[in-house]
Amino acid sequence: MRVEYHLWVDSQSEWISSEWIFMPASEITNRESQFLRFNAGDVILRQGEIGDNAYIIESGKVEISLQHPDGTAQVVGTRGPGAMIGEMALVDAAPRTATIRALEPCTLLELSRADFARRLESVDPVVRMTAQIILTRYRDTLKRTSFIYDTAYSGAESAELGYAGQGDALSQIKLANEFKTALESHHLKLHYQPIVDLNTRAVHGFEALMRWNHPERGFIRPDIFIPIAEQTGMIVEASRWALLEACRALKRIEGRAGYLNELFMSVNFSSADFASENFVETIYEIISKSDVDPHFVHLEITERLLIGQPEMAKQTLGLCRKAGMGISIDDFGTGYSSLSYLHHFPIDTLKIDRAFVSGMTKDEGALRLIQSIIALAKNMKMKIIAEGVEEEREAGMLRDLGCDMAQGYLFAKPMAEDDVTAFVAGKRTV
Ligand code: C2E
Ligand code: CA
Ligand code: CA
Repeated sequence: MRVEYHLWVDSQSEWISSEWIFMPASEITNRESQFLRFNAGDVILRQGEIGDNAYIIESGKVEISLQHPDGTAQVVGTRGPGAMIGEMALVDAAPRTATIRALEPCTLLELSRADFARRLESVDPVVRMTAQIILTRYRDTLKRTSFIYDTAYSGAESAELGYAGQGDALSQIKLANEFKTALESHHLKLHYQPIVDLNTRAVHGFEALMRWNHPERGFIRPDIFIPIAEQTGMIVEASRWALLEACRALKRIEGRAGYLNELFMSVNFSSADFASENFVETIYEIISKSDVDPHFVHLEITERLLIGQPEMAKQTLGLCRKAGMGISIDDFGTGYSSLSYLHHFPIDTLKIDRAFVSGMTKDEGALRLIQSIIALAKNMKMKIIAEGVEEEREAGMLRDLGCDMAQGYLFAKPMAEDDVTAFVAGKRTV
């Protein structure tokens, strides 16, 4: 469900209010939260006191008032169900700037600063930085209003700069812009890693992997730039480019290395791609444009996508399968231990994550997990690709366990098109 936090300045009272919208309060707080009950007239929080919690009004009505230095009080507003009160305590441990009293019996849900901080930690750094800046400005604006006798919060500006300098939010914003330029100015390339038969070592296909050679910073790792491209939505354009480029490369590699409609090309897609408009139509058009038979195109997606958006994934993958494309589940085994959901989806290949492959020679648990993944895949008539095979011993064990295919440095690293063409041409003559 979408969470929207809404801040606005009420021009009449100059009081800044906040309210959660579109969400029942119980969905905003978590299991650690508790309901608190107040009777009419009870003070919920008091100006000048240090608070650790904000509250969301589940039922009832409260009144917000400001105490002036001369002892007089001024009511600045009332709030009802759905509103959040005392939210500044989520930002810092400064004293409360207003008193809030129950006007009628109230039930409140508590959200602690610690919980909020934990949530803030887990969000995208750009969102985190923005939230921190908004909240600091909020406090600063409050302090500047005529109701507050304090001098303006002089620390606001430096605090904002502090947030911006903290962590990697700014460098991520920069990198996101540079990725856009890279996409437009052809600084992105694809490398292709052969996927081989564990029995014969013949090449069955490739995985296309994005490479970014930054003009000043040199090579940037995909696990750095892919998440940024995903967060900014630019992955959608990048994936479409990658699919077209990979399909065209497949045609060229096969032509030059003497293969004819034998090899497949596996391309990675993220949940942002799946959520994009006309996903299936667009990829089908791209594949048609490259003149590759869709049966030789595999879409690689993660378990997370299946679990996160099961209905959408089921429908979209169904259409992709109908159009002939293969569906591989990437990094299998890392996301969710339950294997039972798999039969809901039209999947034809499981890719066993490198972590299990590298662990299998040392760890009984990893070995047993691989055994069960292979048994499950066989049962469901799926193919299995082991990822990250680096040692002969691993290749031998996987083959003996019935694993069909593998990719890894033992066989070949991801390579530029010319190198991979030479590699498969060489295999052809062996
Ligand atoms: P992935 O999809 O799991 O890709 C396999 C990664 O394992 C690749 O890393 C590959 O170079 C690496 N690898 C292959 N064999 C071995 C091995 O034997 N040992 C070791 N240590 N590593 C091996 P790479 O290219 O750095 O990509 C990292 C991740 O970035 C990919 O993981 C994928 O999640 C993402 N990625 C790369 N290209 C794309 C793309 O075009 N689109 C999307 N959405 N994601 C991509
Ligand atoms: Ca992959
Ligand atoms: Ca993988």
